[in-house]
Amino acid sequence: MSVRTVLVQGDITEQDVDAVVNAANSSLLGGGGVDGAIHRRGGPEILAACRELRAGHYGKGLSTGRAVATTAGRLPARHVIHTVGPRWSSTEDRSDLLASCYRESLRVAEDLGARTVAFPAISTGIYGWPLEDGARIAVATVRAARTSAVEEVRFVVFDERAREAFARQLDAQA
Ligand code: ADP
Repeated sequence: MSVRTVLVQGDITEQDVDAVVNAANSSLLGGGGVDGAIHRRGGPEILAACRELRAGHYGKGLSTGRAVATTAGRLPARHVIHTVGPRWSSTEDRSDLLASCYRESLRVAEDLGARTVAFPAISTGIYGWPLEDGARIAVATVRAARTSAVEEVRFVVFDERAREAFARQLDAQA
């Protein structure tokens, strides 16, 4: 079954979904943007879980394009799925890594039995990925995914420019 896609303009930390995807960095120990907002809103339980991951299987951190889940602490969601987007490069095509973030996060969501998953526009903030291209990869990858547990993917964008980019891509790739 292919997944239903929904576009919402708002704050990802407020989404009432089973899993929220975090645009994390490889340290898993917090950062700015979505990452900062999730840790602030979700409280210290999320960071404690991330520290445990670092003390265990993820001693060197999480690689770009991979995903791992923790508790969502005080967020309305039940799980946070941390994924590390690639930094934009004008000399190297890193699109596969960005697609991998969406694919791997959905795979983790499936394992968790999550039915609804909220994604931010990964890499399009601090990591500098051009918004339209980031939206194109996000929509294409999610549309191509065959999921059984996950029924709805919610793209949660902060501003009007991002909303327009995702709306265009959802239309163009319908
Ligand atoms: P990255 O480091 O992967 O670029 P950022 O968190 O800096 O990640 O930004 C990713 C996208 O999320 C940007 O388009 C940014 O505007 C948006 N964003 C930032 N904070 C939030 C939030 N609380 N909810 C939803 N989107 C957000």
